[in-house]
Amino acid sequence: MPAAPAPPPAACQLRAAVKDDGASGYVHSFQTGSVVDGPGVRFVLWTTGCLMRCLYCHNPDTWHLKHGEPTSVDEMMAEIGKYERVLKMMGGGVTISGGEPLVQAPFVTRLFRACKALGLHTVLDTNGYLGHRISDEELEDVDLVLLDIKSFDPETHKRTTGYPVDDVLAFARRLSDLGKPAWIRFVLVPGLTDNEANVDGLAAFVAGLDNVERVEVLPFHQMGRDKWERLGRSYPLADTPPPDDALVARVEDQFRAYGLPVR
Ligand code: SF4
Repeated sequence: MPAAPAPPPAACQLRAAVKDDGASGYVHSFQTGSVVDGPGVRFVLWTTGCLMRCLYCHNPDTWHLKHGEPTSVDEMMAEIGKYERVLKMMGGGVTISGGEPLVQAPFVTRLFRACKALGLHTVLDTNGYLGHRISDEELEDVDLVLLDIKSFDPETHKRTTGYPVDDVLAFARRLSDLGKPAWIRFVLVPGLTDNEANVDGLAAFVAGLDNVERVEVLPFHQMGRDKWERLGRSYPLADTPPPDDALVARVEDQFRAYGLPVR
């Protein structure tokens, strides 16, 4: 989980901070020592800006670019460089998450290029909707993609995120065609994404890809609720309970039935 949001920068700082060439961007927060955002022990950087408005989002404080701190690639790499040795020793690397990192694709791809120059393993944590913003060549600097597919059923995807699913699935197929390793993440929300046909459709789709190293079923939780309330928003899933063990097991088994590695 990201730390507390940085105070919004002044408008003039904002305009100066994001250059089209990606030399700088907006950073919400960063943290060293994550073991849940890719292999090994990782430095995780959360960028700001996201198009989606997922009903269960636990980082609504990353939605707007202006929630971030203007930061240059050089500044960020100076921070990452402090941990280079330990990240390598612990089999980890750098994960860029958000928000949606590809909102700031030029900044993010520059960071990945700089990380690879240090020999660090790189992970892109994305909702996939803006996959067209990263080129095949730029993807060469990404070792692993954590791809959130919020739903296979188009209507459920729209209801959950506000956006259609087609571009997400197209990005998933493109990653498969490129042979780019991916972990697929699916947030299981009772009464929203748990429909059997929805899960089956997603499992069949993912089983048809050639690059999937694992599937993670992430049980919905209420941990984002406080942030929504602090931002003056009413939390749409306030009355939704986390899935019970039986539901999680049923959904994981649905993925396993298609031969997928569920972790
Ligand atoms: S894609 Fe991620 S950051 Fe964006 S709204 Fe959904 S959960 Fe939140």
